[in-house]
Amino acid sequence: MQDFKLSPSKIVLHEKCERKFYYSYIENIKEPNTASTIRGTIFHKIIEELYKVIDFKKFYGKHWKNTYESLTQIMNTFLELEWKKIGSEYDNVFENEKESNEYLEETKDFVEFYCLKEAYRLYNFFKKNNPENKWFNTNLKKEFLPKSSEEYINVNNLHGYIDKTINVFGKGVGIVDYKTSRTPIPHALDESHLLQLKIYAYMYYKKTGELPLHASIYYSRTGESVFSKIEKTTIAEVEKIIKKIRQKHKEKKEYPQHVTKLCDYCYYNNICKPAQ
Ligand code: SF4
Repeated sequence: MQDFKLSPSKIVLHEKCERKFYYSYIENIKEPNTASTIRGTIFHKIIEELYKVIDFKKFYGKHWKNTYESLTQIMNTFLELEWKKIGSEYDNVFENEKESNEYLEETKDFVEFYCLKEAYRLYNFFKKNNPENKWFNTNLKKEFLPKSSEEYINVNNLHGYIDKTINVFGKGVGIVDYKTSRTPIPHALDESHLLQLKIYAYMYYKKTGELPLHASIYYSRTGESVFSKIEKTTIAEVEKIIKKIRQKHKEKKEYPQHVTKLCDYCYYNNICKPAQ
């Protein structure tokens, strides 16, 4: 039995293709970072920064277009500062400056749409809530500020960060994950994204004893939020998968190939040589 240090992404990878998991975590052949992974890391970072510095109250009485412009200015400043760290704090994953600039401009689009949604949400919130109301600050906090950001959880050697948790109007907790990739299926979660959310819910439950009400992914590329209700059966379901992985040894034969069309794009294709 292996006491693998697991994470949601490792478990998801195992469920997608056990051989890929083997190459990555048993043979330790790591896939290099890509433009998409670096962009994803930066996007997460700047959203976290926004909620640390922003005072949403100051947008009271403003039209959503003005709020949108202010939020975008702040976020783009964060983005450009973070982007400059590529090559020092982040791997330089771009072929040349042109490619880096193209990615940066596209990421600004993601940022702008995020700001637009938040600005419009705020505008509608302020229509019904004003600072004279004694619940104004509480409601503003509940609706716009995360309960936690980048919360690190380590339970039974399963560890990872939950991007955001939110209060669901006093009824419980919701989990939010951000992705800069697109929704594989419009308006829905594919199996691997759903599994990832279930693992986050499991981790949160193991840490706090509270089962999240729901978990969602915000897809910054399309601006969609897709959520799934978390059921009590999730805990047993995730536990079963973890047990299955931990029961394995290090022999390659225990990690079969899962051959699909996606093998053509797999980093390990050359050593794996899947029979298509
Ligand atoms: S090439 Fe296919 S079967 Fe081989 S590791 Fe990659 S995804 Fe798995």
